[in-house]
Amino acid sequence: MDADTADTADTADSADPAALRIDVDRLLRRLDALGEIGQVIGPRGERGCARLALTDADRDGRDLVVGWMRDLGLAVSIDAIGNVVGVRAGDDPALAPVMVGSHIDTVRTGGRFDGNLGVLGGLEVVETLITHGVATRRPVAVAFFTDEEGARFQPDMLGSLVYVGGLALEDALDVRAADDGARLGDELARIGYAGPTPCPTAAAPHAYVELHIEQGPVLEDAGVTIGVVTGVQGISWTELTITGQSAHAGTTPMRLRRDPGYVAAELTAGVRAIARQMGGSQVATVGRMEFTPNLVNVVPSSVTMTVDLRNTDEHLLQQAEHRFDTSCRRLADDEGVTIERRTLARFEPVEFDARMIDLVETTATRLGLSTMRMPSGAGHDAQMLARICPTSMIFVPSVNGLSHNLAELTEATDLQAGTDVLLQVVLQLANDG
Ligand SMILES: [Zn+2]
Repeated sequence: MDADTADTADTADSADPAALRIDVDRLLRRLDALGEIGQVIGPRGERGCARLALTDADRDGRDLVVGWMRDLGLAVSIDAIGNVVGVRAGDDPALAPVMVGSHIDTVRTGGRFDGNLGVLGGLEVVETLITHGVATRRPVAVAFFTDEEGARFQPDMLGSLVYVGGLALEDALDVRAADDGARLGDELARIGYAGPTPCPTAAAPHAYVELHIEQGPVLEDAGVTIGVVTGVQGISWTELTITGQSAHAGTTPMRLRRDPGYVAAELTAGVRAIARQMGGSQVATVGRMEFTPNLVNVVPSSVTMTVDLRNTDEHLLQQAEHRFDTSCRRLADDEGVTIERRTLARFEPVEFDARMIDLVETTATRLGLSTMRMPSGAGHDAQMLARICPTSMIFVPSVNGLSHNLAELTEATDLQAGTDVLLQVVLQLANDG
């Protein structure tokens, strides 16, 4: 904290910004209110969310959050891909803002915390500063990015990818929805979020910090409160269409079959074997498989399936892709089927800024919280922002490691801890040179 900042703090009770803490009840009220939009109640009373990108529910959620931004006096801008940024002015208007944020779209069976915490935690940070009359040298911006989940429009992290110039705006607007074929640009206009601010952004933030739930079991298993995220795994998503020969299940001898169902099963077992043999951070998943005609007594004519490969090391991820490629070609030959492949998403691993990682770690330690360094297994907007400014992430535990699940939960004490770390990291970044 420099002397400059102490001078500009405008009320007496702001004497020690380092002692500031967020109000977790206020944060929980906002999480609850946003969670009621698109709410899905599970069979055991779980309260989850379905706010797919650019649906009516997404619009209602956006309207609520934008209303909160305006209530806090933030200057709100909406860009051409629908990313929303609310800015609290700093003492020096010439300085680039410290940005925090995440996303508020969810998957079809999503929870109340994924993404929402980073955005509403950001608003809570700003409201805490306002309530205590704490000014900052740099502006503080709270952002939410369009279509992070990729559940309706692929690729995922689309809004932040366009924001940093990684995908042309026109191409993003032309993406079609996986469910109903709607054009992204048309849906954006329909819900009133095709904004006037140019995208990609003309002005990179000073730094970006994203608070997020872990979405996995590692922190809970270790009994640690704060995950200091060092980077994000590389992601490779492929859709395969395997075409063979539909045939009678009783009359067609095994040696004469060209069975895409069998090939799909071998490939599924194959990617598991690849991950097990490679070890380390390599993971592999077949998450979707559709048989045609999908009947008990018919050898299928075709199967469509997806393969998700991830690794923190680009070289090893390419090795996994290469091994998978080899088994595709061998199985296609052996069984006499054709395999068409389509890349749904491909992102290289990202390493976050070393000083930003240190800042999260030292701040959490100063607050008396336990920490561990870890890579993120999931993709996040932060990996896109890392292309244009120093970036890091703060993880808090997910109960039972559950996410993309109606039962997704993070305990209030962990919400408090993570958002306090966010607040203190923002204060330091917003007052540094
Ligand atoms: Zn998320």
